[in-house]
Formats: sequence, structure tokens, C-alpha cells
Amino acid sequence: TGVPLGQYVIPIVNKLQDIFAQLGTSSTIELPQVAVVGSQSSGKSSVLEALVGRDFLPRGSDICTRRPLVLQLLQTKPKTDGSVEEYGEFLHLPRKMFYDFSEIRREIQAETDREAGHNKGVSDKQIRLKIYSPNVLDITLVDLPGITKVPVGDQPYDIEARIRTMILSYIKHPSCLILAVTPANSDLANSDALQIAGAADPDGNRTIGVITKLDIMDRGADATRILLGKVIPLRLGYVGVVNRCQQDIHENLSIKDALAHEEAFFRKRPVYHALADRCGVPQLAKKLNQILVQHIRKVLPGLKSRISSELVAVAKEHASYGEITESKAGQGALLLNILSKYAEAFCSMVEGKNEEMSTS
Ligand code: GDP
Ligand code: MG
Repeated sequence: TGVPLGQYVIPIVNKLQDIFAQLGTSSTIELPQVAVVGSQSSGKSSVLEALVGRDFLPRGSDICTRRPLVLQLLQTKPKTDGSVEEYGEFLHLPRKMFYDFSEIRREIQAETDREAGHNKGVSDKQIRLKIYSPNVLDITLVDLPGITKVPVGDQPYDIEARIRTMILSYIKHPSCLILAVTPANSDLANSDALQIAGAADPDGNRTIGVITKLDIMDRGADATRILLGKVIPLRLGYVGVVNRCQQDIHENLSIKDALAHEEAFFRKRPVYHALADRCGVPQLAKKLNQILVQHIRKVLPGLKSRISSELVAVAKEHASYGEITESKAGQGALLLNILSKYAEAFCSMVEGKNEEMSTS
């Protein structure tokens, strides 16, 4: 099972986490949250699923996501026999392990109904789901209800304002990465996603534009100008994707087949060949990973200084005990040394990568 999100970052984060575990410090790397925003049915849930590489979110042409879903991915160690064990656990159902991901989807739907009713109601009360897998990195993804304008079913008259407030409460945090999802068959200038992302992140430092549904654009139209940032520029740029249509979902097309289908779509269309780095879910995962790596790079010096000061404290404590054969301070110094070396190697690796990126 290829999980694209994290293929670059997992080994780095793991090594660092191992070092911290040996040090016995509380220092860890907290990765930023990633939230998806956009209008209803723009493809937000589909994008998240494709990034995780598993089928488990309710999707459809009607309102499906009616409560925020906070999805915590947690990495587990692979089993000794090499088999892969992945399961989900909800906060509202502690200790019940879901090995069947379609059962996870049914439980999300049932739990949505319990809080928000059966008739299209929306609630800002979170559903919290943890996914344990050896193929993910420890990161939190947030699936949010889409922006709608006209109240339907049990929705209040001010549904649009309420959903906007709910979305902003997540994406206003400076550490939240925003995937602003707009379907290619609508006008980018009307994009709810770019509008609300721009309100929370006016400089565009943490917004990635995601253009979905490239497969159902008007015949003769293509998304090149959008992807090049010529329609509306975006600092971190755009990635175009093709996810499963409703019929694919009815026919249970797997994520793996959907990725192959997407790859074939771009291969068959010469207009996208020059934009290969802006096309496809794997490129989106790569872009996210690059941003995460930059984030780790930014927090490393702070972690180093925190460990240094912990070391000073331990050394003081040690001195107050007099002679002890197993020196904790000595161990700390050794580990700090390892970490410093590692951080340097890591930074030069990232720089090397960046160079490679700028020439591509
Ligand atoms: P959300 O409301 O933004 O979470 O959107 P969903 O992920 O639930 O998708 C809404 C509908 O659009 C579903 O029927 C999906 O199958 C369909 N869809 C999503 N992405 C694509 C795409 O890239 N191409 C096509 N043809 N359909 C898509
Ligand atoms: Mg959704």
C-alpha cells in the first residue's frame, strides 16, 4: 500500500524522534495541521483520502461532510512478520478498533447523524479519528464542511456565515497549512477556497492551491494558465488533480487504480507534459512534504537550544550528587553531539534537495 504523504519526511522525523526518546526529553517535533477548505462538492474529502491512500471518508455530490473531522495519523512499528496492520479508533468509541475502513466511513456517517441530525444539518462539534499505520507520518489532517450559500434541509438561514466561522476557527492558526480546493470546471475568480484562505493567510505563506476535476473541464479547455498562476497568483502555487468521480465510487474503484487512472490522464494530454511538477496527487504529497521539511528545519535550532538547557540542568543536578559512575550528563552531552551532527547533515541535505528542485 503506497501512502504518498510522508514518503520523504517519515525517515527524518523517525530518526529525530528516536534521538529524543533516548534523551528522555519531552522535546518532539510537532508537525503543522493540514486543513482542506472550499465550496461543497469541490473534492476536499477526495483529496484527503487520496493523500492518505485509504478509502474511508464519506464523499458525494450532496453535502457529506457535516462536522469537522480531525484525523490524526499515527505511525506504528511494522509487525515482526512484515505484515501491515492498519486500524482506526474514534474518540467517541474508545478502545474499539476498526480494521475495516468502510466500517470507519459508516461510523463517521452515523456519528454525524447523531449530532447533526439526518436532514443535512451541520455541526461544529468535531469527530476525532485516529488512524494507526506503519505507512503514515504523525500528522493531523482536518476535513471540513464545504461552503454553501442556500440553506437546505435543517440548515439555518445563516448557514454560509456559520460554516465560514467554523472553517476560519481552524485555518486562522499560523501553523495550519491550508489546501484550498477549487474544481477546474468553475471560475477560479469565484473560488470560495481562495477567498477564505486569503482571509486567513493574506500573504499566502501556507496556502497550496488544489485544482480538482481536471477531467470534467469544458471540452477544449485546460488548466495550464491556472496551474501556472497566471489567473490568480499564489505564492506556494497550484497542483491539479483527478480524483474519482461518483461512478468510480459506486463501482468501488480503489485508490490505487484511481492514482493509475490519474497518471494515465496526464500522460495522454500533451498540454500538461511541461507542467509535470504541478500535476497529480503524488506531486501534491511531494509539495506538502517539502513544506513539512522546511518546517522541521525551522524548529530544529529551537529544539537544539532546549536540549542544551536541559543538559545544563542535568549537569548541575549531577554535580550536586558528587561522583556517580553512570553519568547522565555525559550521556546527554553525547546525544546532543549526535543531534547537532544530524541536524547539520539534515540541513545540507535539504539544501541539496532545494537546489535540485529549482532546476526542475
Ligand atoms: P467535498 O464536498 O468537497 O468533500 O467533495 P467530495 O470529495 O465529497 O466530492 C464531491 C463529488 O465530486 C464526489 O461525487 C466525487 O466523486 C466527485 N469528484 C471529486 N473529485 C473529482 C475529480 O477530480 N473528478 C471527477 N470527475 N469527480 C470528482
Ligand atoms: Mg467532504
